[in-house]
Amino acid sequence: MNRIILFGLALISCVLLHAQRKIDVLHYTFRIGLSDSSDNITGDALIRFRMLETTPNLLIDLAAVNPATSKGMKAGKVMMKGLPLTYTQTEQQLNISLGAIVSAGDTAEIQIQYSGVPSDGLIISKNKYGHRTFFADNWPNRGHNWLPCVDDPGDKASVDFIVTAPQHYQVVSNGLLIEETSLSADKKLTHWREDVPINTKVMVIGVAAFAVQRSGTIAGCIPVYSWVYPEDRDKGFYDYEQANEILPFFIREVGPYGYRKLANVQSKTIFGGLENANTIFYAEGSVRGDRRSEGLLTHEIAHQWFGNMATEKSFAHLWLSEGFATYMTIYYMESKYGRDTAVKMLEEDRRQVAAFARKSNRAIVDEDPDFMKLLNANSYQKGGWVLHMLRQQLGHEVFMKAIKKYYAQYAGSNADTRDLQHVFEQVSGKSLKTFFDQWLYQPGIPQLDIKWNYAPRTKKITITVKQLQPQAFSFPLKIAIQCSGGKTQTQVLQVKNNTDTFSFSLTGTASSVLADPDTELLYEGTVTGK
Ligand SMILES: [Zn+2]
Repeated sequence: MNRIILFGLALISCVLLHAQRKIDVLHYTFRIGLSDSSDNITGDALIRFRMLETTPNLLIDLAAVNPATSKGMKAGKVMMKGLPLTYTQTEQQLNISLGAIVSAGDTAEIQIQYSGVPSDGLIISKNKYGHRTFFADNWPNRGHNWLPCVDDPGDKASVDFIVTAPQHYQVVSNGLLIEETSLSADKKLTHWREDVPINTKVMVIGVAAFAVQRSGTIAGCIPVYSWVYPEDRDKGFYDYEQANEILPFFIREVGPYGYRKLANVQSKTIFGGLENANTIFYAEGSVRGDRRSEGLLTHEIAHQWFGNMATEKSFAHLWLSEGFATYMTIYYMESKYGRDTAVKMLEEDRRQVAAFARKSNRAIVDEDPDFMKLLNANSYQKGGWVLHMLRQQLGHEVFMKAIKKYYAQYAGSNADTRDLQHVFEQVSGKSLKTFFDQWLYQPGIPQLDIKWNYAPRTKKITITVKQLQPQAFSFPLKIAIQCSGGKTQTQVLQVKNNTDTFSFSLTGTASSVLADPDTELLYEGTVTGK
């Protein structure tokens, strides 16, 4: 996701679902009824699942009606094998009594009928042109505000959305269009099917008046579409058409695209963009007709590999989505516009990480139960910088080999930070424990006080590197020494203690010293000396 729009919305609180999951969902079929007469939706969910453990009770996430706002979902009939089941509905969950009708290892299907006005998750509102729209916005675990589900990134399932809505709307969703049928003069049924398992955070429907264009076909079989507001047709088609250039780049660099289509959709997401599986929602302001949303498109398209296909096991490892999307965008820009563009982006990101580190004492891998708080410079910019440093320290070829292997190994499933570490260790043949421990599990970044002194008599320079932050990091620090006569001598210093002193000979008189001349290290600091 791109969080540009999110600043100011960070106070939205998320409820951590502590459910003891005893099922693995295999498939959802959601039948959703929408109307223009009210914001009330009707739902009928079929959930096919495998029992992982014999249990008399099944917990399904579904936000209940809040008496203060009258918004939320009221469950109706709950059925299994043709029999009605009893249940209780708490604030965030249905607790369904199964009795002894299913046991561990069984595959079963439960049907849940429900209705209500969504308090979140499905945004029913007007777009910037004053037209009524319905846009799902499930990240991180807001899906259960309108869908009964296991609202957890660790559980992926295939999904059918069968939406009945007034005729004048078009419906877009994950996967492929299966059916579009007029039911009556004013009702239309639209059925989309996603047969690649995805998690609820990237399940989506968008219901609005759209202009729709098939802008290209990638790899001979993947159609690319633009879905934009009709008023923005020309500008939107022009802006979103860039996906046809971005998608092949990641197929070439990372591995096969995991889905059957890519739709880029103008929407009412609260985020700058949300990477919903193969059906990316962008904020409505993303369409300007100037292609300045290229970075946003690249970020969300990169998520189709990192976040959607290869998914973090839990939100504590969110950087496996956001750090990857951040760095893959820089990598794309480097490839398209050159290294100077990438360096500018890295320098800006480094400034943001340093500013965040000054006020936060948290590591990238973060168990904070308020997932919205994880949309920070640690998950995005610092995560991106971690990948950049791996690329610098291991070399481009080893880095890309590890990225490809990680994707090949975890596409379709879930990974955590140590899983990524093991892949990089296998490919590089090096232990990366210190690297991963300090950059991902330790807060902050190196704050360096670098002092140098040149002794003309011995022609030696002495450089003292002090780490001012609480815990010392271990890293290579490149130093460029400008010598008299215009020559530059570079030296890589292996820094690992609170204070390290290095001394070596120069061929000329040192006139200035520059730390990290090639933008390879995440740090902040000063260099002084003579
Ligand atoms: Zn993102």
